[in-house]
Amino acid sequence: MKHPKEKKKVGLVSLGCPKNQVDSEVMLGSLLQAGYELTVEESEADIVIVNTCGFIDQAKEESIETLLEMGELKKSGRCRALIATGCLTQRYSGDLLDEIPEIDAVVGTGDFPKIASLCEALLNPKRTDERPRLTDTPTYLYQPETPRLRLGPRHWAYVKVSEGCNYRCSFCSIPSFRGDLQSRTVDSVVREAQALAEEGVVEINLIAQSLTSFGWDRRKKGELVALLKELTRIDGIHWIRLFYTYPTDFTDALIDLMAEEEKICRYIDLPLQHIDDRILRKMNRKGKRKEIEQLIRKLRDRIPGVTLRSTFIVGFPGETEKEFRALSDFIRETEFDRLGIFTYSHEEGTSAYPLGDPTSEKVKLKRQGTLLEMQRKISRRKQRKLIGTTQTLLVDGLSKESDLLLEGRLEGQAPDVDGVVLINDTAGKAVNAGEFVSVRMTAAHDYDLVGEVVEREAGPGETQKEKALLPMISSLPHG
Ligand code: SF4
Repeated sequence: MKHPKEKKKVGLVSLGCPKNQVDSEVMLGSLLQAGYELTVEESEADIVIVNTCGFIDQAKEESIETLLEMGELKKSGRCRALIATGCLTQRYSGDLLDEIPEIDAVVGTGDFPKIASLCEALLNPKRTDERPRLTDTPTYLYQPETPRLRLGPRHWAYVKVSEGCNYRCSFCSIPSFRGDLQSRTVDSVVREAQALAEEGVVEINLIAQSLTSFGWDRRKKGELVALLKELTRIDGIHWIRLFYTYPTDFTDALIDLMAEEEKICRYIDLPLQHIDDRILRKMNRKGKRKEIEQLIRKLRDRIPGVTLRSTFIVGFPGETEKEFRALSDFIRETEFDRLGIFTYSHEEGTSAYPLGDPTSEKVKLKRQGTLLEMQRKISRRKQRKLIGTTQTLLVDGLSKESDLLLEGRLEGQAPDVDGVVLINDTAGKAVNAGEFVSVRMTAAHDYDLVGEVVEREAGPGETQKEKALLPMISSLPHG
């Protein structure tokens, strides 16, 4: 047992999507501010926090497995308290407390800023056996002043602009536990982005449940455009990327701005879920096949070279072989640049739940496999076309594959979800994380590329003066 005056150590396991990662970062920020020491070794921690995901089956299973694993740590006396936070907790707090007795407290998706005072209460030797349950408020909007310890690399950041969602896709449980749409203000997001730029962030990844609905809860339909205009004026920010857009939310004003503004990445994450009109109706998705196809044509016409990422669900209740083939043909013809395929997850609390789950796991996995294999070939073909071209790349640092390689990303490669460019030759130049360089592509794999540095490049919107400056900066010791 630790000596009382020693700083208490907290370990946090962050599961799920980037939105959950931001919540984890806010918890870590408030714990640090409250004087806790943070450790990546849960076995060394006095308190372990598991920030869970509760979206679909696979994610729920992973969260429960992690809680059970950390429960073992507690049973063996290596940690004194276990806290479950996040989406699974907001959805099933009672069940979790019943099923996993090692859990000492549950914190939902709106109360996690209270994590430090909860830890204090749990470490208090006079504490009662009561197991606190903080799940009353599903939504919390952090602000620029909110303490946040960012987990990712220094030079890019996720910025969550809103929480909750007003759409009611019939397969989706998120509104049932994250609540209705609540947007931060433009001023709040801009001040955060300015602070991030001062910290050396050059790429901002805007996230939300439905990004293009930003401001709608304040009856301000065009607020995303206003926000983007402000963000493009921030010195030091060179890439602004949009995640989780909704097809029928795209306005001409938004498309025009993306086409005009060099700092806004020609990259669109556009989850479509399906393309067959009957299935889209059953999914309670807005927009029909015709509108979606028109939108994609418009995006590709108005934003040349735009990278389109999408996600689809296979095996939705009642999806016929014919409707699956329609989806498969659509994906073959559209040739998305990036693609995710999920198998339908039968989620209680969703309006599709009463439809049952008639499509067997075998058929779902077969359909998922067919589309992923098709996409692998499409991606490989597109990647090969880049060989011999010279592209602007943001260096992320040493490659996860080998210390002999650096890796970075093109404007069309988002962090964490897309492929990377492996740099195997820097032409003797000092190249550091957070820098923009010019890279000639020399080889292509299904999702990754290989390239060599040809020139250190001025980032989009960066002055030649700044370009001249950076070699000096790059020789400074790493931040
Ligand atoms: S847009 Fe649909 S899928 Fe996305 S969070 Fe909202 S309800 Fe869920």
